[in-house]
Amino acid sequence: MDMGLNGRWALVCAASKGLGRGCAEALVAEGVNVVITARGAEALEATAAELRLLNPSVEVRTVAGDIATPEGRAAALAACPQIDILINNAGGPPPGDFRNWTRDDWNAALEANMLTPIDLIKATVDAMAARGFGRVINITSGAVKAPIDVLGLSNGARSGLTGFVAGIARQPQLAGRNVTINNLLPGAFATDRLKKTMAAGAAKTGQTLEATMDKRRAAIPAQRFGNPAEFGAICAMLCSTHASFLTGQNIILDGGGYPGVF
Ligand code: NAP
Repeated sequence: MDMGLNGRWALVCAASKGLGRGCAEALVAEGVNVVITARGAEALEATAAELRLLNPSVEVRTVAGDIATPEGRAAALAACPQIDILINNAGGPPPGDFRNWTRDDWNAALEANMLTPIDLIKATVDAMAARGFGRVINITSGAVKAPIDVLGLSNGARSGLTGFVAGIARQPQLAGRNVTINNLLPGAFATDRLKKTMAAGAAKTGQTLEATMDKRRAAIPAQRFGNPAEFGAICAMLCSTHASFLTGQNIILDGGGYPGVF
């Protein structure tokens, strides 16, 4: 199926690795020009080089910087001639015990996982609406639907974003102008982030990392971790011209892990 995205421009935040990179790869394969960001320039440039090889007909630009800062966001926005597709992403907050979290810990989580995507949505959606096409995908977490004790900073900040998105996605001046805003909720995907979370869990219980990962894997009905390429493929589908009627949704990608009906 032709996704109808050839020649579009996307800003893919936090995309040198993991899920953001998976989204960038899928979009590039569909002929989308991309601006990708990450803090570490070396991995970012390496990813950009691989994306260019994947589809030499698209333009791939890089912006090294922290997307959770005003300067990082300004640089990312300035690098993209026109933003048709916005993929909001940033590193997740660290796990821990809420008793130990300070106001600074909360502010950092809110900046990265709630206020940054809101700022970028604010900066882009009205121009998308004026052009009659726009797609925003926020990478959030399965923890929005099924909160995880030790990820309280993530649960809280992402729930705030989710509530905000549920309201604005339904504005007729956006939904009525072919601008859709959806959240993709990853379960356990095989990325650096997952390994770090699992390592923290292993350290807490005294089990090996391998045993911890085996146990987590076995708890997923699909009996495996997701891979960033399949996450990216769903992201590209949601960005496609065929998905114009799908907005304000929370789509969970977790191999069947979430047990609820709704
Ligand atoms: P990852 O493999 O660690 O990759 C994170 C990417 O984001 C890297 O490219 C990293 O590069 C970049 N990044 C992190 N913070 C950034 C910032 N402030 N500004 C710019 N770039 C930044 O992580 P992931 O697994 O893809 O996770 C992506 C998001 O999904 C996270 O918010 C995570 O909590 C969430 N999530 C993941 C899973 C999972 O199973 N993987 C499950 C639920 C939720 P630099 O470090 O160089 O900046």
